[in-house]
Amino acid sequence: MKAQVFRGVNQLSYEEIPVPALEPDEVLVQVRVVGLCQSDIKKIRYPLYEPPRIFGHETAGTITAVGSDVMGWQVGQRVAVMHHIPCMRCAYCLNDNFSMCDTYKNICTTAGFAPSGGGFAEYVKVPGHIVRNGGLIPIPEHISFEEASFVEPTNCCLKAVKKAQIVPGQTVLITGAGPIGLMFVMLVKAFGAKAIATDLLTSRIEKAVSVGAEAAFDARDPNLREKIYALTNGMGVDVALLAVPSEKAFFQALDCTRKGGKVLFFAEFPDEVEIPINPNILYRREIDLMGSYSSSYRLQNLAVDIVFNRRINVQALISDHYPLQDLSAAVERAVSPTPETYKILIYP
Ligand SMILES: [Zn+2]
Ligand SMILES: [Zn+2]
Repeated sequence: MKAQVFRGVNQLSYEEIPVPALEPDEVLVQVRVVGLCQSDIKKIRYPLYEPPRIFGHETAGTITAVGSDVMGWQVGQRVAVMHHIPCMRCAYCLNDNFSMCDTYKNICTTAGFAPSGGGFAEYVKVPGHIVRNGGLIPIPEHISFEEASFVEPTNCCLKAVKKAQIVPGQTVLITGAGPIGLMFVMLVKAFGAKAIATDLLTSRIEKAVSVGAEAAFDARDPNLREKIYALTNGMGVDVALLAVPSEKAFFQALDCTRKGGKVLFFAEFPDEVEIPINPNILYRREIDLMGSYSSSYRLQNLAVDIVFNRRINVQALISDHYPLQDLSAAVERAVSPTPETYKILIYP
């Protein structure tokens, strides 16, 4: 089969490799669509992982083989594939902190080499642990593979929305209106809260409004703070979700958040970035700073419901389609987006 093998920083090689052999409790999925995630881009462009590896984790496809011990799954079924599932037993899992579980972090799907997702290949092997514990999600007939590939990123965004305890009637600032920021806009609206988005690109500012933001502004607008306070009865937003790794965006968000509000880091910053902050800002204004990484097992059914019942319109986020062969070009496009680039999907 063909796969895009990570051979070193910025070196993707389109290679012929063996189709993974199945253990009795494993399932083989033919990848039909895989979303290109910001985290894939980081893994390809920075020296974070030892090569060779095959990344890609927002995977949807068709089951083409099942091991002899597998119950309940048949060849031909359409499925979304989750690339990690927690152990449900460790101290982290028992505290609903699944994304910190070692099992969650370590065991994942693979197309070959060290397990790393494996979506950027024609076939991906799903380990027994994931098959048995809810990591294969059947796709209903009326839902496309493209839509199904959004279950994983929707869960990640949903986890942040839940962690920040966003409730109906609140106002939420979302910094960055790329594919993630726009998904936040949709989710915040679906939860009955108002979204205000910022970005630097006019096209993204307009897009944010078209997918449901109450208002969207240029992040460089000198009157941004006044405009946001005017929209929130002079209080500031209840929650700010940082969907860009920008120090400026952080301070802007902090400045626009009401007393007692929350600022949540979603975008991953480069490791060398340090943000100096006066602790009294947090003390006197009782601002909570928080982070949210990856998805939550607890929210899996809700994420599935949101995507499969079209409670948000994930199709509005799709902008580009690339064959697997052109993954490097897709990464380039994501790094230097056109005004109309949002979610990029890859087709083996
Ligand atoms: Zn992802
Ligand atoms: Zn665990």
